[in-house]
Amino acid sequence: MTINTARLLANINTRAARLFEDGYSIVRKSEDTLIVTSNEGTAYEVDTFWGSCECPCYKNHGTCKHLIGWENLEETQKAYEEALLAGAPTEDEEFGRTWYECRVAARAR
Ligand SMILES: [Zn+2]
Repeated sequence: MTINTARLLANINTRAARLFEDGYSIVRKSEDTLIVTSNEGTAYEVDTFWGSCECPCYKNHGTCKHLIGWENLEETQKAYEEALLAGAPTEDEEFGRTWYECRVAARAR
């Protein structure tokens, strides 16, 4: 592995771990396919059976943040939705910010 490949993988892993915080959302299309959408609306289909994604990064490098991060994103999104359903406040009490603003702030860090 070259230094550049190692750097690229580290970068992909870092971004994969924070898809939810960065405003990504996930929808299951079928048992083996799901759609990961950024907060700007760019959507890519991830095939969890074959372990592939339709994004440019996957095409160029054979891996991507969507493929590495979808499971964590799905889990986090589910926990977030359950918390909202259970009546959790949608604002950060300390800062008076909405969840969306918190996510944008997390993205800017
Ligand atoms: Zn991808």
